[in-house]
Amino acid sequence: MYPLTPNYIREAKLYKELQRLTQLQPALVQNRIIGFSSNENLPIYALEIGKKQAKQQILIIGQHHGDEVLGLNVALAWAEKLIDGYKTDERITKILEQYRFWIVPTINPEGWRIVSSGQYQFKRKNNRDTDNNKQLDLRTDGVDLNRNYPVFWDMDSDMNINSPYYKGTEPASESEVKAIISLTQQQSFALAIFFHSSASGAYSEKLYLPARGGDTPLFQQTKTLAQIYAKAVKKDYAAGTYEVHDGISSEVGNARNYFFHRLGTKAFLVEIGGINAKGQSVIHPDDKMLKRIVQKHLKALTKLLTEMEGVLQQSPPRI
Ligand SMILES: [Zn+2]
Repeated sequence: MYPLTPNYIREAKLYKELQRLTQLQPALVQNRIIGFSSNENLPIYALEIGKKQAKQQILIIGQHHGDEVLGLNVALAWAEKLIDGYKTDERITKILEQYRFWIVPTINPEGWRIVSSGQYQFKRKNNRDTDNNKQLDLRTDGVDLNRNYPVFWDMDSDMNINSPYYKGTEPASESEVKAIISLTQQQSFALAIFFHSSASGAYSEKLYLPARGGDTPLFQQTKTLAQIYAKAVKKDYAAGTYEVHDGISSEVGNARNYFFHRLGTKAFLVEIGGINAKGQSVIHPDDKMLKRIVQKHLKALTKLLTEMEGVLQQSPPRI
């Protein structure tokens, strides 16, 4: 479905939505600006939800790639579920006794602005004028924000500025990535979850772990948590549930590897949106499917966060 239906949150409406959520529980929620985009200086927001005395912090990033919009709706619906459920829903209240959340709907407001306003549905990167021709070329300009993190960045050999995966001129060249790095310098996170959607369908309905995790307790814990999440989400158009991808996956310059290898944070990526009966990947589904997808992921997050403490206690001690 494109242009997106009104049930998809839009860049132009994000601030209002965040203010609405904040006002539902002002004592529990703060709307923060953690940085600004590289080219258009658009704010990057984070909702901080929870109590100061919570033992651990969890980061959820709804979007890195402009065209992958499902994660934004999931992230905002999770924020609302936490806010509504505090002191009314036993499981949510318990989750909020243990964890404080930083929910970043998008770190790519520029790409998302293009997609959500109906201008161009495949805008993946930010809007940096990479060819320096003083205009925005929707199809080619920009840096892939999930190739720009300072981790294994040198190993990425794709230097083509027109590539959809262009990594930028240097590690963390983009202020969107700098915003996340500076957040991690101020806050520490026990777990980070990144939502994406597979436009090609090759990665659909899978969870991706950090690359080269080895056999460390940290990696094993991450894998166990990802498995709990995956098993809780039924596929959109096929039988079965999401799976945790086993084997080689992208490692260069991406967020989950940055969190895992540089910060020691458990981190995984969720590719939302399935493949329909015609074999097509659906990353902009209709309203009915959008609603179902959001509900499934809220259920998975609830289950994961209810079971997480037990998983961490069971794991072998660090060597
Ligand atoms: Zn993506």
